[in-house]
Amino acid sequence: MTDYRVQGATGDWEVVIGLEVHAQVTSNAKLFSGASTEFGNEPNCNVSLIDAAMPGMLPVVNGECIRQAVRTGLALDAAINLWSRFDRKNYFYADLPQGYQISQLYHPIVGEGEIEVSLDEKDPDGETKTIGIERLHVEQDAGKLMHDQHPTMSYVDLNRTGIALMEIVSKPDMRSPAEAGAYVRKLRSILRYVGSCDGNMEQGSMRADVNVSVRKAGDKLGTRTETKNVNSIRFVQQVVELEARRQVDLIEDGGTVVQETRLFDPDRGETRSMRSKEDAHDYRYFPDPDLLPIELSEEFVAEARQSLPELPDAKRKRYESALGLSAYDAAVLTAEADTARYYEANLALTAERAKKPDTEIAKPLANWIITTVMGAANATGKPLNSDNFPPSANADILAMTFDGTLSGKLAKEVFEIYVESGDDPATIVEEKGLKQTSDTGAIEAVIADILAANADKVEEYKGGKDKLFGFFVGQTMKAMQGKANPQVVNELLRKALG
Ligand code: ADP
Ligand code: MG
Repeated sequence: MTDYRVQGATGDWEVVIGLEVHAQVTSNAKLFSGASTEFGNEPNCNVSLIDAAMPGMLPVVNGECIRQAVRTGLALDAAINLWSRFDRKNYFYADLPQGYQISQLYHPIVGEGEIEVSLDEKDPDGETKTIGIERLHVEQDAGKLMHDQHPTMSYVDLNRTGIALMEIVSKPDMRSPAEAGAYVRKLRSILRYVGSCDGNMEQGSMRADVNVSVRKAGDKLGTRTETKNVNSIRFVQQVVELEARRQVDLIEDGGTVVQETRLFDPDRGETRSMRSKEDAHDYRYFPDPDLLPIELSEEFVAEARQSLPELPDAKRKRYESALGLSAYDAAVLTAEADTARYYEANLALTAERAKKPDTEIAKPLANWIITTVMGAANATGKPLNSDNFPPSANADILAMTFDGTLSGKLAKEVFEIYVESGDDPATIVEEKGLKQTSDTGAIEAVIADILAANADKVEEYKGGKDKLFGFFVGQTMKAMQGKANPQVVNELLRKALG
């Protein structure tokens, strides 16, 4: 994966990527005001006098946003700065009534950390790469301008103005679109586990500025461009590809890459120059005189650490070692906090209902959820959660497979009917007569018929054509309409065939 190269007329080029991810902090109120952060409200309903920048208003920092930033920093294995400070970043724009954004340039709340990404999704225990984090700081979001509603008018919506963001800046450690994608996916997973950001990229709660440069292997870093506000993982990867290609062609044509801010146009599949890159001095940063520095106590940080849940890597390893799941199954079930929560709710209930220890339930349940329930979630377009696919139904059905009432195939049939009708699984089994039979007399009678009707094949089997065993199993199951206990069928067939 690290050998990703862009081919040019003068040979291969290496791509260097660094990402600045803006993640909206999960909080009911904004960073410096009590206004609501609810998404989708009527324009300009979530606006306090502070957000509208009325003269004389004073910002008061929202402690919950600070706590969430610290928890996130800890989850990224990062250094927490006990002393940090807010600065004003001055610029004029119609979506920024203050005329400055309150951010943290010089003294961010979180310093260096790292994220480990897996390079092969099919082999999560295989090769990994550690991507460095430069810093994480807290800042205000801006509002939204709409220019396309009316030919001569522009509208401003300040609902988003002043909402708390975490800006998470990576080191220029990524070398391919796939690595960039894996990094964003892992970061989003960690944020969701921590609960500090919902990671919803379509709604803009998480977006990435994609920094890209190219160089010949062994050269020093090239000049980067920054493509702003990319709002899906697919687009991040697309931007890397487009920018790398553009820069290589430009350099090979005798041009030079200029450090600039670019825009991504997904409809036309291109990036376009937006403005030349500004430097810190263009913004006349200075400490915000309305806000005291943030001083954290060791106890505050210790409590934040205590409050962290088990994180995805630790959970995946525990599913493998303590529950005996395969690396792949463990990775699928822990990739998202919601999926892991769902699996664990099912595990507890199924173990209780089947009266078996977790270790005996874990594997069949993992199979069941990954193939059957996730399959139904995909087919119906309903998210995988306890409301849409209640653990009690899964527990009922699985308990019936453990006690021999249902075969795996019948269990799937019952589940399909359950998803459609919502009827109680036990009732479905009763009413549709889906019970599997272990009645040896009945099965033996069917086997006798089948062997008699296929005397030639019985001879071949006895002559060494072992593969025919599957044929006899299939015929028996068919004759019994799929309801015979496969284990019993196997045993009785072996006996009958000698
Ligand atoms: P700014 O706000 O000016 O964009 P930041 O320090 O916030 O600066 O972010 C710079 C981002 O650009 C970081 O993610 C960093 O890893 C990345 N970066 C720096 N140099 C390069 C380079 N030569 N090629 C690609 N990415 C780079
Ligand atoms: Mg930046």
